[in-house]
Amino acid sequence: MTEAKSWLIETRDLTRIYGDGEQIRALDNVNLRIGRGELVAVMGPSGSGKSTLLNIIGALDRPTQGTVLINGQDMSKLRKLDQFRSETVGFVFQLHNLLPTLTARENVEVPMIGRRTPGERRRRAEELLGMVGLADRMNHLPNQLSGGQRQRVAVARGLANNPPLILADEPTGNLDTAAGQELMALIRELHRSQETTFVVVTHDHAVARQTERVLVMQDGKIVREDRIGSPLEEDLKLWRHTGLGRRLVEKKEDLKAQLDLSRAELDTLKRVLERADVAGD
Ligand code: ADP
Ligand code: MG
Repeated sequence: MTEAKSWLIETRDLTRIYGDGEQIRALDNVNLRIGRGELVAVMGPSGSGKSTLLNIIGALDRPTQGTVLINGQDMSKLRKLDQFRSETVGFVFQLHNLLPTLTARENVEVPMIGRRTPGERRRRAEELLGMVGLADRMNHLPNQLSGGQRQRVAVARGLANNPPLILADEPTGNLDTAAGQELMALIRELHRSQETTFVVVTHDHAVARQTERVLVMQDGKIVREDRIGSPLEEDLKLWRHTGLGRRLVEKKEDLKAQLDLSRAELDTLKRVLERADVAGD
């Protein structure tokens, strides 16, 4: 099928069963497609299969049944998995697993070892750390950095070999709200400027709202999919469901006098809110 080629990631009836006695269906017939350059969030309660899905897409684990196609290529038929991983996928995990005895720069160099000369590695690591706003922290050890800074080092490391795909498992999980928002701003910027495809597992709605599409998992299945609008559309959508938004749209009472708006202003507001609702959920 040539059709598969247009997707960066495609899964077909992906199933992962753990255990041989009492079996756990961590993934249950998952069919999904993610296009090149998309920024996608995967949400869902703990144990719903998010990490399993990410690990199988990144070829860190194998499905019990079903297939994963990356760039149209069937992962189960791939001979050089290590090469695939280092060229195609960058991983960013919640526990950023930086090597504690290496500096930020050296950590970023790790995925490039054996693939570039020491000089090239160093230059690339410096460029990446600059890009994530850590130009002045290159020679710090992980324990000399804040959680947010360590996570940015992990993002830089994930980007080291310029992979088309970054898989991030709860990258903001250990960060406070501000640092989490900052990391998402960085991911959005990289997504825009490098055209990297990101799949970000999170259970934070504020993080998911920063993406373009949210896949919601439950019991190993994708049970829902939401498309995220622009920040303005999202704000309007929220506003639409406030008491005032509802009253405006449903025209339950005459708000003209209460709001001190003209008829025309009121109608405009109503139209905008109605449109926000059609575009969204
Ligand atoms: P999430 O990331 O959404 O919290 P996981 O993908 O980690 O969920 O887990 C999905 C289900 O599979 C859970 O019930 C979990 O306990 C089970 N599971 C995950 N990894 C293993 C494993 N290595 N062995 C046995 N069960 C596992
Ligand atoms: Mg998980």
